[in-house]
Amino acid sequence: MRAMVLHGQREPLRLEERPDPRPGPGQVQLGVHACGVCRTDLHVVDGDLHEPKLPLVPGHQIVGTVEGRGEGAGRFAVGQRVGVPWLGWTDGECRYCRSGRENLCERARFTGYQLDGGYAETAVADERYCFPIPDGYPDLQAAPLLCAGLIGYRSLRLCGDAATLGLFGFGASAHIVCQVAVHQGREVHALTRPGDRETQRFALELGAAWAGDTEGGSEVSDPVEARVRAGLEAAIIFAPAGELVPVALGAVAPGGTVVCAGIHMSDIPSFPYEILWGERTLRSVANLTRADGEEFIALAPRVPVRTEVAEYPLERANQALDDLRAGRVHGAAVLSMANAQAERKADG
Ligand SMILES: [Zn+2]
Ligand SMILES: [Zn+2]
Repeated sequence: MRAMVLHGQREPLRLEERPDPRPGPGQVQLGVHACGVCRTDLHVVDGDLHEPKLPLVPGHQIVGTVEGRGEGAGRFAVGQRVGVPWLGWTDGECRYCRSGRENLCERARFTGYQLDGGYAETAVADERYCFPIPDGYPDLQAAPLLCAGLIGYRSLRLCGDAATLGLFGFGASAHIVCQVAVHQGREVHALTRPGDRETQRFALELGAAWAGDTEGGSEVSDPVEARVRAGLEAAIIFAPAGELVPVALGAVAPGGTVVCAGIHMSDIPSFPYEILWGERTLRSVANLTRADGEEFIALAPRVPVRTEVAEYPLERANQALDDLRAGRVHGAAVLSMANAQAERKADG
């Protein structure tokens, strides 16, 4: 198979021909159709996340077809389409696993970080952590559901029943969360980099009530009164920028929650206690549980969540990462292995 492989952090991935990975006990072997490119992949490649397995095949939003099953694996049929998310393995016995919080498992292993992922034509995964992909979602459109959608959904749930919601940073995850939040009847305010009118218009198309930049200006929506801007009931920060934390805290009302959705963020500047006072909550969200995945995968077709995808062939993974780093991706970047899968079919 061909794979894009990381040999050292802060180096480009290398295109390599490798033997197909074989499924171990309890694992499925997948012919990969598509793999989403997540900001977390960037943090792994750029060295913000430490000690990845090396060499490593990144990628943790994998959509593929079951082609083989290891000993004891029987959850999915050969030919079935499944998704592989970030959470790849847990020990099932630590205090977190035993209390329904496997996302915090002390020995968790993550796909595309400690385990080889989906920037490849073939992947293997522990079947217990895979999800069936709902019919009706094309491969490319389904891939971003597996992390951008899932983690976004977990972040949204941590906002409780907030009726007005700010989304800081409007990329792969926010564009999905926006649709779910609107479906739930919430009022969404989308905040982007200053002057990014294209993304602001995109947010309005997806049902946001207001879109503008993080400094409060907007060229696509009516100005929002300061009173309203300081009155959001919750905010989720998707951008990896610590300086947005005081901005978001300043925009939520007493009792409101600010959720930091990313796995890595630049340092948070100090801020006056006044903007945390009033029982505002500041928290992060970490990883996912399988229950989050099952809930979200069932919900997505009912919304229905429509994902906007920028497609790259597998061998252009470095370009996809560069575009994501530079903020040039509209919606979600996804690697496509369609050509490879067509060839495999032709070969029988
Ligand atoms: Zn555990
Ligand atoms: Zn991710």
